Amino acid sequence: MNLEQAWQAALAEIELQISRPNFVTWFAESKLLEKNEGVALVALPNNFAKEWIESRYQKIILGALRNLDETTKKVDFVVASAMSRPPAARAGLGRLQNDDLGQQSFSELKIDPETNLNPRYTLSSFVVGKSNELAFAAAQAIVQSPGHKYNPFFIYGGVGLGKTHLIQGMGNEIKALYKNAVKVRYVSSEKFTNDVIWAIKNKRMETVKEKYRFIDVLIIDDIQFIADKQATVEEFFHTFNALYESNKQVIISSDRPPRFIPTLEDRMRSRFEGGVLADIGYPDYELRCAIIKTKIEEKGVIASDEIVTLIANKIQRSIREIEGVLNKMLFYQNKRGEPVNIKTAEHIIEEVSERPAKNISANHIIKTVAGFYEISPLDLVNRSRKKEIAESRQIAMYLLRDMLSLSYPYIGRKLGRRDHTTAMYACVKISEEINRNQNLNHKILAIKDLINKA
Ligand code: ADP
Ligand code: MG
Repeated sequence: MNLEQAWQAALAEIELQISRPNFVTWFAESKLLEKNEGVALVALPNNFAKEWIESRYQKIILGALRNLDETTKKVDFVVASAMSRPPAARAGLGRLQNDDLGQQSFSELKIDPETNLNPRYTLSSFVVGKSNELAFAAAQAIVQSPGHKYNPFFIYGGVGLGKTHLIQGMGNEIKALYKNAVKVRYVSSEKFTNDVIWAIKNKRMETVKEKYRFIDVLIIDDIQFIADKQATVEEFFHTFNALYESNKQVIISSDRPPRFIPTLEDRMRSRFEGGVLADIGYPDYELRCAIIKTKIEEKGVIASDEIVTLIANKIQRSIREIEGVLNKMLFYQNKRGEPVNIKTAEHIIEEVSERPAKNISANHIIKTVAGFYEISPLDLVNRSRKKEIAESRQIAMYLLRDMLSLSYPYIGRKLGRRDHTTAMYACVKISEEINRNQNLNHKILAIKDLINKA
């Protein structure tokens, strides 16, 4: 197993132990650089991420690595920009050419320091199906003439559905097409926030302004995480306007459409809505199969058709989870020297898709849903049959089931003293409707965010 595979397997474990937004935010750009004498060295994209992860997730990471290899004693962190320098220039990273680090995994580590793009994400490796074909078509059109058509381009969809892949793929493609004539830059909204905070602290706002305003294609990932700080939002607005007004391409991703991002001001929101909005939905069965088949080929996983079908049936909501399953399969395949059988595959799927119980109470969920709909929590728990609260109560039921795995009789009793069939009906209905109704889906995402935040 090479380092990349080991890290993917560790990430699959880590993902189960922390919240989704945190996982996505902090681990998306992480890499395992080396393992030597029980010390694992993990690369992170910036100092901000490094400090954050060091102080909060060190134990979890060490635990996950130890599960894979008992000899792991310690985990250290470095900032990833160190990776783009030649190995000799990297103090303390001299052992990087270790045999473990195959040619291929090395290219995976190469984040372009100028654009901040990961070359792994390409448009040609993006598998297209019904749920992402419009977003993909828009992406291709923009690549052909950045800044002219479709500006800004705002792409939204749930976690793990391919937003980062698509927007980074666009960046890589533009870079390949126009070389140095077009300056591309990819940033996460944390990175942007961090830059602004740093500039304010060091009185270097001009540096940041220059850094962002001389860009031809600005790609901002996960805009919903932009810090809720006046100065950051303000600076983002100015940067955006400056670029937009000089016909520079702005590409933005988010887990929900602009109207559900509370930190965005109205003027910003209407700007985004005035461009092109494209959503990536949940992949249908066909697309899931196509992705699984493409990825097993890419990764060298050996899987029977039966296993492909099993994964496609069981994991419906996240391509990242599909990838997690395949990575774990690869891990077992390498460890045992034979392809995994259907039983092991079942076990892996369960492990990857199981959510750990969080420290959230039923009352907290009820209060948050009520707050979101601006009604009283009492309306939800009492027997009220008011029509306006029907949807909110069904969503509360669904969330109690989805987030806390509570029983239907309990949920029914708790919300409006109804019987278990009412609760079951609500949960099934909402979980089906999420697939069809993006609006509902985004409402639920926004509520979940609120629940997880408090
Ligand atoms: P998001 O940014 O929406 O949370 P990512 O872009 O990080 O999701 O995608 C999660 C994983 O799934 C990545 O490894 C990505 O390469 C893969 N992926 C997502 N969609 C596709 C697709 N259509 N084709 C191939 N791989 C995909
Ligand atoms: Mg992403």
